[in-house]
Amino acid sequence: MEKPVHPIRIGCLRCGKVVPRSGFKYCGRACYLQASVLDGFLRQILIGDGCWIWTGNSAEGRARFGRKLSASRFSYQLFLGTIPKSKKVCHSCDDGMCVRPGHFFLGTSKDNSADMVAKKRQAFGARHGNAKLSDDIILQALALYKTGNISQRAVAKQFGIHRVVFNKIVNGHSWRHLNVELGRRKWRHVCR
Ligand SMILES: [Zn+2]
Ligand SMILES: [Zn+2]
Repeated sequence: MEKPVHPIRIGCLRCGKVVPRSGFKYCGRACYLQASVLDGFLRQILIGDGCWIWTGNSAEGRARFGRKLSASRFSYQLFLGTIPKSKKVCHSCDDGMCVRPGHFFLGTSKDNSADMVAKKRQAFGARHGNAKLSDDIILQALALYKTGNISQRAVAKQFGIHRVVFNKIVNGHSWRHLNVELGRRKWRHVCR
């Protein structure tokens, strides 16, 4: 007797693992939550020609994701990676409500003074290491991946992003650091 043909089951949209039932988008609660966090974050960004303006919460001119998280720091960690302990996320555009990864640079407390920011801004384009991975590419890649019809690996290949890097972007591996780091620090001026 022939085995019955099972309906095609698409893997978890976040991690690619087998989902518990066909029709399920995610393998479990953890993936569902992380995916919805990413969704919630991207939905609150207004993408302009220059800055990506945060339309969500704010406090003292600083973009807030939810009540506690800094949207800038969240964005940095989502798109660019972990923020070293001694560093602050600064804006080359001087706009605290901007969450565009290409407008961030890491600074120390010293860099907080206005002229340092100005200097960095001039040197920004050529020196900044993430120039090779532009934020538009990342966002396009994420959008394509979120359609659910294509694997992470395929999207990464199509956009020329290393699959491990893209996986990090999708999974927001550094999210867990956020809760630990935030709240302990006081950010001044444009660095937060
Ligand atoms: Zn999953
Ligand atoms: Zn900006």
